[in-house]
Amino acid sequence: MDLGIAGRRAIVCAASKGLGKACAMALAREGVAVTITARTADLLEATAEEIRKATGATVTTAVGDIATEEGRAAALAACPEPDILVNNAGGPPPGDFRDWDRDEWIRALDANMLAPIFLIKATVDGMIDRKFGRIVNITSGSVKSPIPHLGLSNGARTGLTGFIAGLSRQTVRHNVTINNLLPGPFETDRLRGTMVGSAKAAGRSIDEEMDLRRKQNPAGRFGDPAEFGAACAFLCSAHAGFMTGQNMLLDGGSFSGTL
Ligand code: NAP
Repeated sequence: MDLGIAGRRAIVCAASKGLGKACAMALAREGVAVTITARTADLLEATAEEIRKATGATVTTAVGDIATEEGRAAALAACPEPDILVNNAGGPPPGDFRDWDRDEWIRALDANMLAPIFLIKATVDGMIDRKFGRIVNITSGSVKSPIPHLGLSNGARTGLTGFIAGLSRQTVRHNVTINNLLPGPFETDRLRGTMVGSAKAAGRSIDEEMDLRRKQNPAGRFGDPAEFGAACAFLCSAHAGFMTGQNMLLDGGSFSGTL
């Protein structure tokens, strides 16, 4: 299926590895010129080169913390008029809400709620003028089914989801859609990191914990980031213009609900 986006321009945030990288790779395979961002320059450059070699697409980089004004300005300087915006950032740390002070909450809100909102603010009117825009926010399955020790994530991402629910209905008549992709467990460094606490508490090694969680998922495995990238590319496609304000869960079926 030709996704109809060859020649489009995309900013993919937090994309030197994991889910962001997979989204950038999938878009680049469709002929999209991608700007990828991350805080660590070396890995970002290596990833850009990997995507160029694999796809032949134009890949530019913008080093910076997307949770800051400067980081967002760097991304927008590298790609001032994106047709596609994939919002992403690292997830907040796990813990007990009794230990989190205001600064920790503000950090989570900056990264996982306000950064996407400010990038949308900077780009959505240009998309509306050009009559094409696709915005995808990488949130989390925790928006549908909260993960108790990830309270910062549960809170910040649900705030973003509420905001998107309203805005996405205002932009769609201009062929600008905004949707959220909700990862369940995908095989990335972040996933491994989130298992440290539960493995320790259960007296298991991280590998044992990972194996157990794989078996517990209805799919009998974790997600492959490439599967996530493919879903993102479809949401960014020319064919997805009637789909907006949706929260698409990719979790192997682990959220058990009829709807
Ligand atoms: P990952 O493998 O750890 O990759 C994170 C990427 O984001 C790296 O490229 C990292 O590079 C970059 N990054 C992190 N913070 C950044 C910031 N402030 N500004 C710019 N770049 C930043 O993580 P992942 O598994 O792909 O997760 C992506 C998002 O999905 C996270 O928010 C995570 O919580 C969420 N999620 C993941 C899963 C899962 O199973 N993997 C499940 C639910 C939700 P630098 O460190 O160099 O900046």
